[in-house]
Amino acid sequence: MKTIGIIGGSGLYEIDGVTDIEQIEVDTPWGKPSDRLVKGVLDDVNLLFLPRHGKGHTIMPSEINFRANIYAMKKLGAEWIISVSAVGSMKEEIKPGHLFIPDQFIDNTKKRVSTFFGDGIVAHVSMADPVCSVLAGCLSKASYDCGAVVHNGGIYICMEGPQFSTRAESELYRNWGVDVIGMTNMPEAKLAREAEICYSTLALTTDYDCWHSDHDDVTVEDVIETLNKNVEMAKKVIKKVISIIPGSRSCVCHDALKYSLITQKESISDEVKKKLNILVERYI
Ligand SMILES: [Zn+2]
Repeated sequence: MKTIGIIGGSGLYEIDGVTDIEQIEVDTPWGKPSDRLVKGVLDDVNLLFLPRHGKGHTIMPSEINFRANIYAMKKLGAEWIISVSAVGSMKEEIKPGHLFIPDQFIDNTKKRVSTFFGDGIVAHVSMADPVCSVLAGCLSKASYDCGAVVHNGGIYICMEGPQFSTRAESELYRNWGVDVIGMTNMPEAKLAREAEICYSTLALTTDYDCWHSDHDDVTVEDVIETLNKNVEMAKKVIKKVISIIPGSRSCVCHDALKYSLITQKESISDEVKKKLNILVERYI
């Protein structure tokens, strides 16, 4: 059975037909993930749900224990991670309510630990193509099949937050060619790559960022209405995509560490080996 992880809002696991639901407390070398993981089965697929900001949304983006979240997914067997993420649009044609599947990221965060490595072991994984093209393709097909308006490919910039951008920043990012802006996909995508998990984002456009003339006219009610509609659509897409995702992996993600571990085996301490065992055992 394939295992698919879904990181996103807490309402996502309430998908019709999910059975065998259990909550799993996971401990990791980096502490606890954002919350207990919810495990369930749908159409012979194991699903793992993790509310990124914790139950009741108590964890702000800079406070998320990203390493624990990705490690917990790895520990419970996830080979695929769908990152369901609310974003602001930086382009006129990406309208609130549209779905967006990025194929590139810009990491503009400032105070996050973005690697499992260090403390005696070094690895440099490739991030040239930070998104799993297979998983992104599956999400794209599922989105079309569900009748969503979906934009395929483009740049997601991750900012530190928690404040939104200034107008000057927003215009700068637009000049960089950025399509959407969010606060969570970095270092999530980097850590998923280090953990050899296929990662793709299903971004839900909530509103236009502050560069847009409509920005100031949008009420909180409008944003919440769009958010709720987006979550309903995300549930439909997830239900659809699980049958499209292949049973085995042939993409580059699954052996991303193969030529990336630089430290000589004999120089890696037993303590480090033990700590990173799940990630590196195939190679050392
Ligand atoms: Zn992949």
